[in-house]
Amino acid sequence: QTGVRVERQPLSRYTTLGVGGEAEIWFVETLDQLREAVSAPYRILGGGSNLVVADEGVPERVIRLCGPLAKADLEPDPQLSTAGDIVTGWVGGGTPLPGLLRKLQGLGLSNLEGTVGIPAQVGGAVWMNAGTRFGEMFGGLHSLELVTPQGTRTVTPDELDWGYRNSGIPRGEIVSRVRLRLRASTPPDVQARMTLADDARKGQPKMKTPGCAFKNPQGVAGKGAGRLIDEAGLKGTRCGQAMISPEHANFIVNLGGATAADVHGLLDIIRRQVPVPLELEYELWP
Ligand code: FAD
Repeated sequence: QTGVRVERQPLSRYTTLGVGGEAEIWFVETLDQLREAVSAPYRILGGGSNLVVADEGVPERVIRLCGPLAKADLEPDPQLSTAGDIVTGWVGGGTPLPGLLRKLQGLGLSNLEGTVGIPAQVGGAVWMNAGTRFGEMFGGLHSLELVTPQGTRTVTPDELDWGYRNSGIPRGEIVSRVRLRLRASTPPDVQARMTLADDARKGQPKMKTPGCAFKNPQGVAGKGAGRLIDEAGLKGTRCGQAMISPEHANFIVNLGGATAADVHGLLDIIRRQVPVPLELEYELWP
């Protein structure tokens, strides 16, 4: 009834790994369309930058925020802004994070530059509280609008039990829009902090990948997952068209035409050959 566009498409088009079978994709542009979309079992897709989607696809409808729900109103809200804090208008959950950060840099607005280089959408980055040691999404959030089949609610970060790479938002709640809480700086200063955060990414592969495969284990004397995989001699190991990156062992890359089965094959090899139990960073669909 709301005119939402629905198409069956391979999810490989929407994941940074370039893997994933077909699903019914709901291209949602308005809150009314979103409310219609959540009336049957669904998954919410962001930038697809943390996903390994099965070759069979997923049975649920897959919601993708676009149109107005992928745009950012960065105009300061005079009612909510204070002397220290600039609070923006609504930023759609489907807004690509890299483009948003470029705009904030141009406006000299600070608080989110630590998230530079994360190829996510705002909603997905908020849902995971994505970030680096230079800063995370919750460092720049004023409030969040969340949609579920039960209705819509607006919350502030202190109402959520958020922490390291975790927003505390229950699974299934969709981050439809957020307001950012920013600080006035200057374009060169914001750029300098972005460059610092970006420099820490040198050595990460530039190929199709869903980012780090495993979380760094606790209590292994400063050895990250990448170091442990490297020490097991697995850099460059291939399974079909998927490969453990020779540049950084905690990255699995798609050499072109990889399948989810190829990626799972590599994950199994890593689990068998690394002597320490590793916890997966990727999210697996289904
Ligand atoms: P997706 O991968 O599409 O989905 C991930 C999860 O978020 C799913 O559960 C999905 O349902 C949920 N989700 C997506 N959109 C919404 C929404 N609107 N509302 C509610 N839930 C939603 N992560 C870091 O934290 N730090 C890094 O430095 C980092 N570097 C990366 C570098 C590369 C090259 C890559 C490929 C990934 C990197 N990542 C990093 C991982 C990834 O970008 C983050 O996990 C990010 O938060 C995923 O966001 P997304 O929009 O792509 O979500």
